[in-house]
Amino acid sequence: MKHKTKYIFVTGGVISALGKGIVSASLGMLLKSRGLKVTIQKFDPYINLDPGTMSPYQHGEVYVTEDGAETDLDLGHYERFLGVNMTRKNNITTGQIYNNVIQKERNGDYHGVTVQVIPHITDEIKSFITDLPQNENFDVVITEIGGTVGDIESLPFLEAIRQFALEQGKDNTMFIHLTLVPWISAASELKTKPTQHSVQKLREIGIIPDVLICRTPKKSLTKTIKSKIALFCNVDKDNVIECYDTDSIYKVPLILRGEKLDKTVTERLKIKCHEAILDEWNTFVDKISTPNFHVKIGVVGKYVKLPDAYKSILEAFFHAGVENSAKVEVKLIDSEKITSENAKSYLLNLDGILVPGGFDIRGVEGKIETIRFARENKVPFFGICLGLQCASIEFARNVCNIKNATSGEFQPKSRSKVIDLMEEQKSVKKLGGTMRLGSYLCTLTEGTKTYKSYGKDIVTERHRHRYEFSNQFREIFEANGMVFSGIWEEQNLVEIIELKNHPWFVATQFHPELKSRVINCHPLFRDFVKAAVVFSQSKNGNPEKD
Ligand code: GLN
Repeated sequence: MKHKTKYIFVTGGVISALGKGIVSASLGMLLKSRGLKVTIQKFDPYINLDPGTMSPYQHGEVYVTEDGAETDLDLGHYERFLGVNMTRKNNITTGQIYNNVIQKERNGDYHGVTVQVIPHITDEIKSFITDLPQNENFDVVITEIGGTVGDIESLPFLEAIRQFALEQGKDNTMFIHLTLVPWISAASELKTKPTQHSVQKLREIGIIPDVLICRTPKKSLTKTIKSKIALFCNVDKDNVIECYDTDSIYKVPLILRGEKLDKTVTERLKIKCHEAILDEWNTFVDKISTPNFHVKIGVVGKYVKLPDAYKSILEAFFHAGVENSAKVEVKLIDSEKITSENAKSYLLNLDGILVPGGFDIRGVEGKIETIRFARENKVPFFGICLGLQCASIEFARNVCNIKNATSGEFQPKSRSKVIDLMEEQKSVKKLGGTMRLGSYLCTLTEGTKTYKSYGKDIVTERHRHRYEFSNQFREIFEANGMVFSGIWEEQNLVEIIELKNHPWFVATQFHPELKSRVINCHPLFRDFVKAAVVFSQSKNGNPEKD
């Protein structure tokens, strides 16, 4: 018998930022824990082909997949919660849909008809729902529709999923709508009207939600309120589910499980499967609230006003903290403020320093001063992408005596470019999707800290950059104590550097944060946090109880 995939669509109403990504990821995780093969897809209604060219302040972090797609940061949640890799087909934008349709029109594929939103755009959207990697026979595909119901931009997506559900049949598709039930303190009451209006909007479009997930500030959705919502919104009262605010996103699956979301979904879609097995997840969540140590890590970058710009780094610290029984307090520090004179005042109380990825020269001198402080004072240091490039410049200037050391990104004409453009990047003119992107092999050098962390010879890690370490400087760096502990052998490119005479000074050209998972935290983050715990103990004499 042909494998029948079931489709769940997640929409959002009332306001944005209710956490559709976390709810979709949590539902996916619960279904996976019932033995089902699950994937999650996100449709984004904006016109950019992908978020790769957007400023982090517009969009937060750009999440890179194994196959090199620049995607929405929700895909990071999907990977972290599910522990499986997404692909470029898991994030589709309006721009991609229109791009495809216009290409087809130019090729004459529509045989002379007028090309319209219905059916051509909606058909294109529908084709993406089923066009996930062929060999994967999924039991369940969850599709999150970005934006808020009522937005003009998301209408074609909603129309497409309405048609799709009709074509696939009721047993194979369902709609989950996430709404807000706000607490109005003057009236001492939860208010259901915004939810009623949002569901009305959906029903105008022809979508009748099967399940409502109501965000509330604290556990407070009584049976009476649930019944009221059910009556006004034409939803079964057992299918009105509360999702209250919590201190960790990793508790959301357990809250939804408590509300029987996974049971409701599997019964509604007639899926045969076992009960959820959540032992590992429960152990992780239990450990969150009982740390033995407390460390302060400074993330010194330039997008500090929007923590979402560093989403995966913050999550990787969380995973590594749980693994080390440590509460990791991350301080985002603006690198533009740091100078050689004041570095100490910003950095003195930290137990570890991370310099993250970034683009262009703004804030770079502050990052270099920060790295100098970490190197000279033996504070655990972790550099990521631009962080490795700045660490190389700092080492060249202050240890190897190459006074004008820089990167081709900042001074293309300099003769001391320890970091420079890759040969194949020199002719690239277009910005979108043209960096070194996605997964590459990295061979590790035995006997190094990195080798010890990973515990293997070859790893794969994800990239997003144009510039690389210039090999002509390798010899002088090595002679001065720098160790090249990871190499992409095929092109002989430096992937990881570390220092010998330092407790933990490691920098990577790739982005390890993209591969840290709840159940499988990244080894470099794990060992960096471990080094920070050791450093804080050595400063304080004793482990600091949280
Ligand atoms: N701007 C640098 C480059 O393109 C670093 C990029 C990054 O940190 N992601 O190589």
